[in-house]
Amino acid sequence: MIPRKRILITGAAGFLGSHLSDRFIREGFHVIGMDNLITGDLRNIEHLFPLENFEFYNHDVSKFVYVAGELDYILHFASPASPIDYLRIPIQTLKVGSLGIHNLLGLARSKNSRILIASTSEVYGDPTVNPQPEEYWGNVNPVGPRGVYDEAKRFQEAMTMAYHTFHGLETRIVRIFNTYGPRMRLNDGRVLPAFIGQALRGEDLTVFGDGSQTRSFCYVDDLVEGIYRLLFSDYPMPVNIGNPDEITIKEFGEEIIKLTGTKQKMVYNPLPTDDPKQRRPDITKARKILSWEPKVNRADGLKITYDYFKSLPEQEIKHKDF
Ligand code: NAD
Ligand code: UDP
Repeated sequence: MIPRKRILITGAAGFLGSHLSDRFIREGFHVIGMDNLITGDLRNIEHLFPLENFEFYNHDVSKFVYVAGELDYILHFASPASPIDYLRIPIQTLKVGSLGIHNLLGLARSKNSRILIASTSEVYGDPTVNPQPEEYWGNVNPVGPRGVYDEAKRFQEAMTMAYHTFHGLETRIVRIFNTYGPRMRLNDGRVLPAFIGQALRGEDLTVFGDGSQTRSFCYVDDLVEGIYRLLFSDYPMPVNIGNPDEITIKEFGEEIIKLTGTKQKMVYNPLPTDDPKQRRPDITKARKILSWEPKVNRADGLKITYDYFKSLPEQEIKHKDF
């Protein structure tokens, strides 16, 4: 029997890490999940625990990372990801993006593994070009509140490229744009769970600023497919994966009001510092190199996600503390 390929997924108990774990299990891999549960939830992966081709380690990857045996691939997804998370734990965010990536690149080198890292559209900061192609260098405020996340991710990309060019390591970089779907935390502060949570609790929807800022939302299954293709491509430079269907936050609020049938209205709160005014991926590269493009339209993706949030225990829906 051919032994299963072995893959380490950091951040496995989080939103994206758990969906990636599911996909690689389905594809017949041996998946080693690692997570310190700082923003993750074991319930996202509890269905995998009985499987013989899944193992899990509760570990902070900013500390030395050890994995026994061979390792073919590493997906580095561990990091706080929502603005309220990384503002609450800024030092851990900087550490996982710097010390954490150094540990994982060292591990990849010692095991001769291919490593794919989760970068983000936040490397473009508050972009002055729209849509954002990979060649755009970005507009980030290093000392603003979001700098802890944006700069950690930019450093992570630089470190990964250095290991690629200096050590010849096989590396891949995915720049992920706003992604949504089941297993997001209802209270993680991101706009979609925030709006749906508010609708479910009968509260007004809190739009930050005048709601004219834009985002482009990608359904999680599309993202996972893009990451899967990128890992097995031979392309080491960053690739945007996201859905180019751009919408203002005000229009998005209107869609959520329609979807949920809430009688509540939108209320306007101050715009957080350095909140990007526009964001839309240029996915020319993903189309060309990976033959990838998103398949799930927002109406279908939102319906699935709303059904997931509705099915959560009442207590969880009511509990809105972060
Ligand atoms: P998430 O918070 O649901 O998952 C992150 C996981 O990483 C959590 O389970 C958390 O406990 C774990 N983690 C954090 N620090 C750790 C550490 N030091 N050691 C071990 N585990 C640690 O967030 P997500 O949305 O699933 O994001 C996953 C990755 O994708 C992150 O790297 C994020 O920056 C990136 N990303 C996500 C999006 C998005 O829209 N969801 C967009 C761009 C980039
Ligand atoms: N946002 C909002 N109301 C909320 C939460 C977020 O209007 O309750 C806005 C936020 O200011 C931003 C957009 O929605 O302009 C997307 O925010 P999110 O935190 O989801 O992601 P990011 O800013 O990282 O793209």
